[in-house]
Amino acid sequence: MIPAAFDYEAPESLEEAIRMLRENGEDAKLLAGGHSLLPLMKLRLAAPTVLIDLRRIPGLHGIQRENGSWRVGAMTRHADLEETKELGVVSRAASLIADQQVRHRGTIGGSLAHGDPASDLPAVLLATEGEVTARGSGGQRTIAAAELFQGYLTTALAHDEVVTEVRIPTLDGYGVGYEKFTRRAEDWAMVGVCALVKKAGDGSCEDGRIGLTHMGSTPLRATAAEDALRGHALDADSIARAAEQAAEGTEPPGDLNATPEYKRHLARTLTRRALMEAAGL
Ligand code: FAD
Repeated sequence: MIPAAFDYEAPESLEEAIRMLRENGEDAKLLAGGHSLLPLMKLRLAAPTVLIDLRRIPGLHGIQRENGSWRVGAMTRHADLEETKELGVVSRAASLIADQQVRHRGTIGGSLAHGDPASDLPAVLLATEGEVTARGSGGQRTIAAAELFQGYLTTALAHDEVVTEVRIPTLDGYGVGYEKFTRRAEDWAMVGVCALVKKAGDGSCEDGRIGLTHMGSTPLRATAAEDALRGHALDADSIARAAEQAAEGTEPPGDLNATPEYKRHLARTLTRRALMEAAGL
């Protein structure tokens, strides 16, 4: 399908982009990799009158390790995350996003700003307790992952805010696991699970974090399962017991691929597998 007509702007600075957002109001949209926005425009589910392309703005790309966290520019593509294996679970999740074409265009900033609960990176940001930095007419602020995702395709970002970078703790000493269940290779997740586990000196679980993809209108933490794990032995039995609670408090949408009940079953099974991997079992 052909999108509705729109104007195209390619600002060369962040300030210019923010000014364009402010001047054009709700009718303007930022364009990053275009791999969520353009399909919506082609289906006429979005009809911005102005697209503001972020690609010429310097300083929005790249991955650096700084003071216990990774600083990732918002325009960094999924393929760059995939190639940077030191990013651990972020790199792993990025490698499972769709196909090469999508991974070479789609960006971390676009994925997080879009806030699709079926996307892989939002649940990873939630589990790692990362944050985004946003700049807008009102200045710069950081938004923690727990505050960012507010509803279906709805984030805490104001209309005139641009995500400039993403910060992800390096999580040294954590074991990680990532499980994504798809009907066909390279599909969106029917359910995805990001698990992080830190062992205490006595081998018990000092910290356990679980992010869920596609189990509600936003990415979620499986808090009941996390609570059931913390302080307990990190063995197959306690992991299995904790994983049984992975779907507590979730409201997964039913769709052509799966009923809500089947998704809850997947969440429990994938959580067990991801935790076993994270615990090195
Ligand atoms: P765009 O499409 O350019 O923008 C998306 C939204 O975010 C727009 O509203 C835009 O205005 C806003 N935006 C973009 N950048 C910023 C910024 N810096 N600050 C503020 N707002 C911004 N994703 C997955 O996670 N897993 C999958 O399995 C998966 N499969 C896919 C399969 C196909 C066939 C396609 C086309 C896409 C798939 N995706 C998947 C989505 C893909 O990862 C997108 O690239 C990503 O969700 C959006 O990133 P983008 O850079 O393309 O953003």
